Formats: sequence, C-alpha cells, structure tokens
Amino acid sequence: MSGRLVRRLRPHGESVFATMSGLALQHGAVNLGQGFPDDPAPQAVVEAARAALAAGHNQYPPSRGVPELREAVARHQREHYGLPVDPATGVAVTTGATGALAASVLGLVEPGDEVVTFEPAYDAYAALVDLAEGTLRRVPLRAPDLTVDADALAAACGPRTAVILLNSPHNPTGKVFTPAELELVAEQARRHDAVVVTDEVYEHMTFDGVQHVPMASLPGMWERTITISSAGKTFSVTGWKVGWASGAPELVEVVASTSQWLTFSGGAAYQPAVAEGLGRIGELVDPLTRELGRRRDLLVDGLRAAGLEPLVPQGGYFVVADAAPIGVSDAMAWCLEIPQRLGVAAVPVSAFCESPAGVESLVRFAFCKSEDRIREGTARLRA
Ligand SMILES: *Cc1c(COP(=O)(O)O)cnc(C)c1O
Repeated sequence: MSGRLVRRLRPHGESVFATMSGLALQHGAVNLGQGFPDDPAPQAVVEAARAALAAGHNQYPPSRGVPELREAVARHQREHYGLPVDPATGVAVTTGATGALAASVLGLVEPGDEVVTFEPAYDAYAALVDLAEGTLRRVPLRAPDLTVDADALAAACGPRTAVILLNSPHNPTGKVFTPAELELVAEQARRHDAVVVTDEVYEHMTFDGVQHVPMASLPGMWERTITISSAGKTFSVTGWKVGWASGAPELVEVVASTSQWLTFSGGAAYQPAVAEGLGRIGELVDPLTRELGRRRDLLVDGLRAAGLEPLVPQGGYFVVADAAPIGVSDAMAWCLEIPQRLGVAAVPVSAFCESPAGVESLVRFAFCKSEDRIREGTARLRA
C-alpha cells in the first residue's frame, strides 16, 4: 500500500472480493465469492438503455437525476411501500448505492460522531465512516439465529450517535430484519435523535414469502430515515452504478448537496432505462427472484452435501455457511487456499467484521450464479 495514502484509509487495503476474484481467475476456479450475477439483465431494460444512447442521452444529467427516474423512484416507493416520496425534492440519484451511502455518511457525520451498524457489515461502511472521521460502533448479529440483541444495540447507541446504518435484506447473512427488530432500531434512533441510513439494495430479493419492510414505513421514522437502493442488484446490472436515496426532503437534501461534490451525476443513458424497469418490477424482476430462490436451495443443498452447515438466507445473494464441521478453523486462510486446491472461490465472513472472533469458521458463498456453476462449485467442495 502506498505510504502516501491518508492514514484513515490505511486499515482498508485491497478489498477481499478483489483478492478472491483475482485468485479465482488465476486458478480457473468457480467464483462463488464476489456477488455479481451470471444471468443477463432483463431485455426490456437493456433495450431502453440502447434506445436512450441512440436518442442522444449522452451529456450530464441533472445532479439529482433525470426527472423520469426521480418520478419512477417516487412511484415505486409509493406503490410498493406506501411512502410519500416527492419526485422533485425527495429523490437524489447517485453513482450506485455506494454513492448514496458515501454522500449520506459524509454529509451527516461530523468528525468524532458515532455511527452504529450491525456486524457482519458490508465492507464499505467502515471505510466511509473512517473517511468522515467518525467512529463505527458494531453490534454483533450472532450465528446461527442472527437476531438483534436489544441490550447490545442500546449499549452501542448514545448521545454521539449521528447515524444508524442498517442493511436489510442483509449482506452477507441474507437476514431480513423483522418489524419488531426494525422497531428496536427505530426506538434508539428516536431516543438519540439519530438518522437511520438504510441500505435496501436487496429489497426485491426475498424468499419463502418473507416481506421486506422499509424502515421509513415505521411510525415516526419517515422524518429520520434516508432510504437507499440501486439498479445493480434489482436488475442484475451491477456495472451500471445507478443508485438513489429517497425520503423526506430535508434529509435527501443532505445527500444531494454532498453528492454534487463527489461525482455530480452520471449514467445519463442508464437512468431512463432504470426508470422503465422500476415501473415493471412484477413482470421483469419477480421471475428473476423466484429463480434466485431456486439457486439458493441448490447452493444450500450442495453445501450441506459437502459437509458444511449453511444458515438458510431469507433474502439477498449469499449463503453464510459454517465450515467448522469439515475442519476449518480459519476461514480466511481456507478461502485463500481453495481456489488453487479445490477450484472454488468464496469469501470469509471475517472480511465483514472488525475482528474474526466468533466468525472464524464462517464463509460466504454467492448463489446469484448459473445453475451449472453452483453445481460444479459445490461438487468440487465435496471432493
Ligand atoms: C452491492 C451492494 C451495494 C453497492 O451497490 P452499488 O449500486 O453497486 O453501489 C451496497 N450495499 C450492499 C449491501 C450491497 O450488497
């Protein structure tokens, strides 16, 4: 790592996803590590992007996003969740969900402020909080049940809590927070006058009839919640990097004000295509989610057959499995070794934690992959 890099970013070296994908490529391994889908995006969405390019949507869009996408996000939030999003003042389009997360954290967190999140946590959260010179307080979700510990949550929150950073459906565990658990979070946010920034990029990827409930729909939470989502996971277009924040105008204003100095805008031709897709979730996305549910079952069964103990996820792209039954005590070392030895790549859950304590033998596998790849990957694990 360069000695020139600012000190606050030094703990955040090369992302483990890049390391494991590099090893997968090097050894021709089946990559069940990084969470990008194998399947093509819905044809209608790709066609809409092609048409927008050809029609000349190739210059800077407005910083808050093109009007048709802001209207589509507002309509989506109203129709799916009953949330009163105003397209003019309640939506900010960003460079992926990552752009919205960065703008939220950098715009809300003063140096020394505290941010509370559940652990394991998506890796960008800790880096963003360090960029803002805040302090991240982590509340463990303990395997195998992954329920929210109300006392641990209350102990992590206090007068310096500026933000509670929530992710449901959750990466890496696939946990979907229940309304009662969301209420525990909401209670702490109200008590300490904190904003909840909620990362809902897997909002449409839930299984077994489990419903995603947005934090902003809880009583009294509209006024203090920034809701973030993105086209990447919803439409299997992770390379497009079109995301958005929505919510009460006063909070979305924070995201928009910060985002204009980060990237200003982007994805001119993709934005109208995402607007088209958001209006057709039932037709374009629900079939993909049903297929994803079958792939989850395939991966869970394959991991069990290989002797691991999977935690069955209710949402998202990933299965966390305990590899202790096959003799793994250091998942990081094992994940560095198996691309070459077994021809499979996966990611240790410790990459989502401050310390490996308590998650030493947990490994994350992605099921947003083709059926063949899942079958081949789990067969290799069994060998
Ligand atoms: C993939 C992912 C993101 C990043 O979304 P982009 O739109 O690609 O920036 C954010 N949060 C979680 C939990 C994710 O899994």
